[in-house]
Amino acid sequence: MKAEDVATVGVVGCGIMGSGIVEVAAKAGLDVVVAELNDEAMARGRSRVEGSMARALERGKLEPAARDEALGRITDTTSVNELAEVDLVIEAATESLETKKEIFARLDEITRPDVVLATNTSSLPIAELATVTKRGDRIVGMHFFNPPPVMKLLEIVRTLTTSDETVAFARMMGERLGKTTVLAKDRAGFIVNFLLIPYLNSAITMLDEGFATREDIDTAVELGLGHPMGPLKLLDLIGLDTAVHVANVLYDEFKDPTYAAPTLLKRMVTAGYLGRKSGRGFYDYGS
Ligand code: NAD
Repeated sequence: MKAEDVATVGVVGCGIMGSGIVEVAAKAGLDVVVAELNDEAMARGRSRVEGSMARALERGKLEPAARDEALGRITDTTSVNELAEVDLVIEAATESLETKKEIFARLDEITRPDVVLATNTSSLPIAELATVTKRGDRIVGMHFFNPPPVMKLLEIVRTLTTSDETVAFARMMGERLGKTTVLAKDRAGFIVNFLLIPYLNSAITMLDEGFATREDIDTAVELGLGHPMGPLKLLDLIGLDTAVHVANVLYDEFKDPTYAAPTLLKRMVTAGYLGRKSGRGFYDYGS
């Protein structure tokens, strides 16, 4: 199927990322069928989409009529089987290989054989998902950034079995969704996290060794490199537990100490200092 002919997109999972992808697709004029585990999770997902669109409205980024139209394009369900007629699936379910393999095996059974099945996974080998389907050539990564309605980048990830047609299709779909795409291989970190983790690790080591204060490290990067925020503020935003997880995935893959989570980071997670979400990380955010 050609990207320009896609009319309906299926999204699996309506959490932080799935809800954002649903919003992006609906605002791009596509019909969306979104599947969640149960009614409660679906209700939470729905209110995430509505809340995000309400904020866009307040900021003058979305007109009320466009909001109503986009919301009208979204159908929700608690059964993946309802995705049988869609033209593309973007899976954004919980980051668990077992969960995603089950979902891909089911999607392979119910969708048309020509449909591309994409995953938003940040850390799992996409090759593993291809193995549970009979369409390895149509399995691809579409890795959005948080929050999807705001972040312009989409990493397209090709695994060994992905065809050139599927890569071209995914890039074109990314453009239809208003994103700028880059192409990466199916190996840990893709482009962004592969570069980001060693840099964040170095900042933590600098702080731990007393080389510079947290404020000076962040200010140096903000004013010297023009980044919107320094590495320690960024770590607090990402979540220190998430940073450890991503570092572990990279270290497991490459066995290069550059990627290993620094001791200070691991101890902070153990202490419950997770960054903004727990009120304390490298900085204090109150309760
Ligand atoms: P999340 O926990 O917020 O959402 C996952 C959702 O999937 C949950 O609502 C859960 O109920 C649902 N789910 C689980 N099993 C399901 C099933 N069988 N059918 C339907 N729904 C199911 O997680 P998230 O942060 O949105 O992450 C989702 C995916 O996106 C992961 O693969 C993650 O690696 C990737 N990702 C996350 C980020 C991020 O910053 N959070 C960024 C890029 C990619």
